[in-house]
Amino acid sequence: MKTVLFNLTDGELEKFVTDLSQPRFRAKQIREWLNRGAPDFASMKNLPEDFRSKLGEIAETLPVKIVKKLESSDNQTTKFLLELGDGEQIECVLMRTTYGNSVCVSSQAGCAMGCKFCASTLLGLKRNLTVNEMFAQILVAQWELRGDKVRDIKPNGDANNGDVSHIVVMGTGEPLQNTENVIGFLERANTEMNISWRRITVSTCGIVPGINDLNKWGRPINLAISLHAPTDELRSSIMPINNKYKVREVLDAAFAFSATHNRQLMIEYILLGKKDQDGSIVLYNANEDHALKLAELMRGHNVMVNLIPWNSVDERDFASISGNAVHRFQDILIKNGIHTRIRRERGADIGSACGQLRLKNAKKG
Ligand code: SAH
Repeated sequence: MKTVLFNLTDGELEKFVTDLSQPRFRAKQIREWLNRGAPDFASMKNLPEDFRSKLGEIAETLPVKIVKKLESSDNQTTKFLLELGDGEQIECVLMRTTYGNSVCVSSQAGCAMGCKFCASTLLGLKRNLTVNEMFAQILVAQWELRGDKVRDIKPNGDANNGDVSHIVVMGTGEPLQNTENVIGFLERANTEMNISWRRITVSTCGIVPGINDLNKWGRPINLAISLHAPTDELRSSIMPINNKYKVREVLDAAFAFSATHNRQLMIEYILLGKKDQDGSIVLYNANEDHALKLAELMRGHNVMVNLIPWNSVDERDFASISGNAVHRFQDILIKNGIHTRIRRERGADIGSACGQLRLKNAKKG
């Protein structure tokens, strides 16, 4: 198997190059290229050509390889299908926004959570991702943005300088089933990529001990809770994890986290419909009563409710609801004094939502 140079320590990388009869400083040159996200050795222009082709034969740069790259017609969203050393595939998405460049990172290959509306979990969990496999996802995005230009490392620098500035751990997988590696990855993103804690968000389906672990870790990141229903009965019907951790427990842990850091808690709420026998669409978790119950849960807390139009997944028998129904739901929250916004759909045309690309590719293969 080829050696993945990104996985080597500085000492190991030096030994690797000197074993190939190259001077030690080549290790430093290679490291600089890797830290910019160089996908191949051909890009490493200051290395001698025969050394580059030798490296191509025996080594890989990063622990992820781009299998597919899709650009959305919105011109702001790029989705990558990436392959890991053992052939597993993951997705990561780069979103260029007015506030900076955000990367949606996967934390697991597949997912064990079994949420009924989601594509990521359809093939089950394969395995946790390593720290390097998560870090490499932001390097892929960084290379896409800046190519061989050196990253502009300014403390508290301008988020719009063209580098990766934000991380959302909201891709495939449940980050709090892989908490130790997620924390290791974020620590490195903070020190090595200078991404500030406040520009990092971890999204969870509500694993209470994991939320408490993040709280103990003590970094002032943003927490997002995938709530999707205001009652235990309804939530358990779409999210099996709710049989273990109830709405009240999850929210209490999450409110405690946001209180520690004085941060606004993000609540994610997908608005789901279901097809009736006669083909009309009934609101599944999105009627007036649900909105009132949700408002009740949120009252008095520093929260932002993100309403998410469902990205349809063929294998799942839910339906999207009308724009009017979305706005009616939002109006009730607003009237009850709850901060809320409707999440813009990004890259729906490139299957940018939630494990769809990986699923399609697995089916073909
Ligand atoms: N496991 C974590 C993070 C990954 S899912 C979590 O549950 O938060 C990221 C977000 O996408 C979650 O809020 C999830 O519920 C949502 N999601 C999953 N499938 C979706 C779909 N088809 N359409 C819209 N949002 C979806």
